[in-house]
Amino acid sequence: MDIREQLNAIQKETLEQLESIRDKTGLEEIRLKILGKKGSLTQMLKSMGQIPAEQRPEAGQMINAVRENLTEKMMQLDAHLKKIEQNNRLAKEEIDVTEPRPYQRAGSLHPLSIVENKLVETFTSMGFDVAEGVEVEQDLFNFELLNIPKNHPARDAQDTFYVDDNIVLRTQTSGVQAHVMLERKPPIRIICPGRVYRADEVDATHSPVFHQMEGLVIDKDVTMADLKGTLDIFAKALYGPEVKTRFRPSFFPFTEPSAEVDLTCVACHGKGCRVCKGTGWIEVLGAGMVNPKVLDMCGVDSSVYSGFAFGLGIERIAMLHYGITDMRLLYEGDYRFLSQFREDD
Ligand SMILES: [Zn+2]
Repeated sequence: MDIREQLNAIQKETLEQLESIRDKTGLEEIRLKILGKKGSLTQMLKSMGQIPAEQRPEAGQMINAVRENLTEKMMQLDAHLKKIEQNNRLAKEEIDVTEPRPYQRAGSLHPLSIVENKLVETFTSMGFDVAEGVEVEQDLFNFELLNIPKNHPARDAQDTFYVDDNIVLRTQTSGVQAHVMLERKPPIRIICPGRVYRADEVDATHSPVFHQMEGLVIDKDVTMADLKGTLDIFAKALYGPEVKTRFRPSFFPFTEPSAEVDLTCVACHGKGCRVCKGTGWIEVLGAGMVNPKVLDMCGVDSSVYSGFAFGLGIERIAMLHYGITDMRLLYEGDYRFLSQFREDD
């Protein structure tokens, strides 16, 4: 067989083999068989010495031409295989965002958190800051500075958890007010949501741990009308534009004058029902003008500044909002109960 036939045979065979190659390992095998150290073309070049001298240049050219041609084909195939491998990898890694997920039960916020978030959102949109206090509080801040003297019945050991003679689990979030007034200069405009503790037995309307939110505004020329206006906006934000507020005279040691604040019943819109015991009104919070004595004790000059404060029970708001009649449901962590509440309710 002369060189030309030999080369044609190698080229034809190689090209046929390349046709059926599907991966890079197969390609590499063929490359070694033809172009490797012991490859057939390499061997032919090595054995050029046996060819008569006058035929060598032509033979060399023919071998090189075939070698170049096959090298070129193999490089093209290599690039093609690379592309296929890459596409396969991408296809494998692709995420189909439309594919339905396996069913997973999403968690949800606790109804008290939902209500607290809503209250905080309402007041912060009115320019209030959120202030947080400690739950283990000095007697001074929980009672003394709020004008609740030593002999006051609220201090009874039957109502309050004492840690020692001077430390209590706070019975109200109002103590944060005293801290803020001592630390900041007016104008002050804060709300303080948080957990409070009373020595109560657990029943449908009582719990030894519950949540309050306190509000405090101190500035020059703050009046009862500002308090009424603020609570009106709050009530409408929470229960809708039809809701009205009503003040009834009351007494708290740290406000003077003080008021219980009622809203038109959310269940019957004022007509009278079981929820409002037929009155059309429900009591929602306590409020009043900050007692000047409290201002002075907390380092705020009561001849220059005045202020109002209000406090509400987050449980109460949540129970009214959702029509929950037993407070214990809020603490039992029963999934069947909790899963009924969503943030946008
Ligand atoms: Zn009603």
